[in-house]
Amino acid sequence: MQTRALPRAMRAWVVPSERGTRPRLRSVSRDVPRPGARDVLLRTVVCGVCRTDLHLADHDLVPRRPHTVPGHELVGTVVERGPGAERFEVGERMGVAWLRGTCGRCRMCRFGRENLCRDATFTGWDADGGFAEYAVAPEAFGYRLPDVFPDVEAAPLLCSGIIGYRALKRAHVPAGGRLGLYGFGASAHLTAQLAIAQGVEVHVLTRDEDARRLALELGAASAGGARETPPVALDAAILFAPVGDLVPVAMASLDQGGTLAVAGIHLSEIPTLDYQRDLFRERTLTSVTANTRADGEEFLRLAAALGVRPRVTTYPLREADLALDDLAGDRVTGAAVLVADP
Ligand SMILES: [Zn+2]
Ligand SMILES: [Zn+2]
Repeated sequence: MQTRALPRAMRAWVVPSERGTRPRLRSVSRDVPRPGARDVLLRTVVCGVCRTDLHLADHDLVPRRPHTVPGHELVGTVVERGPGAERFEVGERMGVAWLRGTCGRCRMCRFGRENLCRDATFTGWDADGGFAEYAVAPEAFGYRLPDVFPDVEAAPLLCSGIIGYRALKRAHVPAGGRLGLYGFGASAHLTAQLAIAQGVEVHVLTRDEDARRLALELGAASAGGARETPPVALDAAILFAPVGDLVPVAMASLDQGGTLAVAGIHLSEIPTLDYQRDLFRERTLTSVTANTRADGEEFLRLAAALGVRPRVTTYPLREADLALDDLAGDRVTGAAVLVADP
């Protein structure tokens, strides 16, 4: 069943093969992709813009295939189902996130740690994502989005929200504890809301003044510069800024026993750490690698129940490049979301 005739061609925005080109993305005409057996074809309604898209466009994240369409916070309408797809109905809203496929057989998959599957594939890296008028996605990795979220608010939940939630879990902040957030973009502003709603005292450290204002508005206990010392020793911290220099700075702000979780997929070089100064007294430094589908389902449920509300700046889909520029220049407060023409 199809709700209306599908066009043969569509507009898509792709990563050029050369590093450092401007504009960052090239606008191309592509055939509308065909869904595989257990895939659905989605008409893009909105797609969030994540820092990973920027890293990919700039080749800081090495492209895995030529001319990939970025975008892994896609909210779309199912317009066609592959012959074996039955989880979502035609006409239904579906969310597409970063994790796109896992082997299901390796030790990590069997341990419930599918985010660490060596054969995992990712939307907008191994396969085309949502910076296009249509996209194909495997139904098994799709999300049903809680009705309380309109499309533009649902999009940033799909990566910024879910990864922030995974980072929050990895940071092991004790109940009623103090959490530091280094950097305050799309992911941090959602993580802050979730943590505050759960009774955590949140301290935000970022160079951006608008972001500090937003942090206080959302209920943060303090908001200071990225290299300032927070007013209290922290039980846990999450580094969202892709700045390795901030690792020792954040470690120094931890109380003993505290954990620093690095949330990004890309980080500039970390300066030498000193065991006594930075790690002794059982301080932990850890990374966050993608997320499991269970993380995603948990987060969406919690976000709806605890009243998380994404702050978004919208751009027309055709201005994907401007959105990436604004993200690169720290000119986006909250999350950037691309809106397709209806
Ligand atoms: Zn696996
Ligand atoms: Zn992302």
